[in-house]
Amino acid sequence: MDARHKGGHDDVVIGMSDTYDGIILGAGHNGLILQAYLGKAGLKTLTLERKAVAGGGLATLEDPRHPGFLHNTHAFFQRAITTMPWYADLELERHGAHLIEPELNVALITRDQRALEWWTDIERTIASFETFSKRDAETLRRWHNDFVPIVRDILIPEGRSPPLSPDERAARLRRTAAGRRLMEVSALSPLEFVHQEFEHPTVKAGLLFFNGLREVDLRVRGFGHHIAALLASPAKAQMSRGGSAAVARALEAAVRESGGEIRLLCEPRRILVEGGRAVGVETAAGEVFRARHFVASSLNPHQTFLDLIDDALVPRQVRDQVARFQYNLLAPLFALNLNLAEPPRYEARANHPELDRAFMVILGLDHVDQFPEIVRHHEAGTVPPTVMWGACPTLFDQSQAPAGRHTAFMWEKLPYRLNGDPGTWDRAGAQHGEAMLALWRQYAPNLRDAVLDSFVCTPLDTERSLPNMREGDLLVGAFTNGQVGYDRPFRGAGTYRTHIPGLYLCGSSSHPGGNITGLPAYNAAQVLLADLGLKADWLSLPVAV
Ligand SMILES: Cc1cc2nc3c(=O)[nH]c(=O)nc-3n(C[C@H](O)[C@H](O)[C@H](O)COP(=O)(O)OP(=O)(O)OC[C@H]3O[C@@H](n4cnc5c(N)ncnc54)[C@H](O)[C@@H]3O)c2cc1C
Repeated sequence: MDARHKGGHDDVVIGMSDTYDGIILGAGHNGLILQAYLGKAGLKTLTLERKAVAGGGLATLEDPRHPGFLHNTHAFFQRAITTMPWYADLELERHGAHLIEPELNVALITRDQRALEWWTDIERTIASFETFSKRDAETLRRWHNDFVPIVRDILIPEGRSPPLSPDERAARLRRTAAGRRLMEVSALSPLEFVHQEFEHPTVKAGLLFFNGLREVDLRVRGFGHHIAALLASPAKAQMSRGGSAAVARALEAAVRESGGEIRLLCEPRRILVEGGRAVGVETAAGEVFRARHFVASSLNPHQTFLDLIDDALVPRQVRDQVARFQYNLLAPLFALNLNLAEPPRYEARANHPELDRAFMVILGLDHVDQFPEIVRHHEAGTVPPTVMWGACPTLFDQSQAPAGRHTAFMWEKLPYRLNGDPGTWDRAGAQHGEAMLALWRQYAPNLRDAVLDSFVCTPLDTERSLPNMREGDLLVGAFTNGQVGYDRPFRGAGTYRTHIPGLYLCGSSSHPGGNITGLPAYNAAQVLLADLGLKADWLSLPVAV
């Protein structure tokens, strides 16, 4: 479908001069957050963005065939961004952002019309677990209580700081009981954790699937703490009023207020290196922008080190590490988007009327092996039995559709290389969307008559739209051993600095990784400001790098 960007700019900003303190590549939320922080520190910055609109994954499209229907084609569920330090530091509410946090945050609806529910209130979540298994509800409470201090005192601060080396981190964790507990649980895989701790198949399936949605590989040891952290996390799913792009517009306003410039429809060809230092960027159109202090890339390592820097300036070891950087181990997303005359009405509402106000809804999840099965199909390039999840944004924000109308979407994890070739999606996408709709109608029969229009977005569409999401990888690099923390994007490279002085990384391929967290940029800002000897009183944490 041809679609128009909501709130985008037709005009292209022309730089006032061609020399800046710093140049940033990519105006996704990470690029914009870094730029706004540096602007507040008094630096003159320019961001180069290949698209006609800034925001990257914070994208909202208006259906050109049906004006007024808005669709959030990438990030929709914002994970508690109102609690992120940059949300306050950059005064996003003053710049127009408004986040909504529905109380019934996630509901897994089973084929027999039951519902496993995650509420913003943990007591209501425990009560819902109890309807499946009393023992699992008690286990949930125990892990929640155990992990609340671990999340608060260890995991949240770790996400908001440049990572420590593995040895230093382990030494620190060993010093406290909470740290030792974290290490002990981490040693498991999420799969082992769930099978060891929980008993009911629906509870197990729900926990594993929900964890998988956060792109954590269930099979891999070292990630066993993720489910406990999920149970204890204060971070709930939120959505942006006016669509996800409204957050991008607020970030842009913060950038502009701090004096930053954003150049749209502008693709870099080369990062300029002189005397061994990054000194600017040459664009595909042949323009040259010079940087007095730094170039920061929010792009993926392939783009940054292999496409944009002369081979001779990238040591063989770095090129090999980049080549080994893995994307998309768990399968990218396929999306079905609907324009509706009325919201989906789930049959299970007869027993659970609260489902009329459910935010994220999971359908098709029947047994505990389904997530591993999805990953196996991804590896084979085949289509698994559908498990899908999504929302009806207009239940909570009527501004995303014409009066009385609605939008809704479902996502499914499907292989990038369908039948061995991503190009297959261009022929098979619409048909798969029909299959998803057929399943959706089994749970919400009113969708037989309520659909006004629909369109799909395939994993290939994602990569075309945002090429940094190689193979449609929404994390811009998988979460797996050797690609997290200090080792993200590769061993020892988690410092946001690179082998070229003056060249920094600030995107999702750096710690703590993808999704709309803004933390790669927040951490990169701390490192950059420290390297430049600049103080930043508004940063919520002390600069410790
Ligand atoms: C279908 C889908 C659903 C998702 N759902 C969620 C969700 O619900 N919640 C969530 O938190 N996350 C979600 N994500 C993930 C989230 O969108 C990303 O992790 C996030 O956008 C990454 O932010 P970023 O700033 O690092 O990169 P991006 O948002 O990708 O921004 C990078 C920017 O760089 C630009 N760029 C790329 N290449 C070049 C180039 N060569 N030259 C110049 N500019 C370039 C891009 O156009 C883009 O503007 C989803 C992603 C997808 C695809």
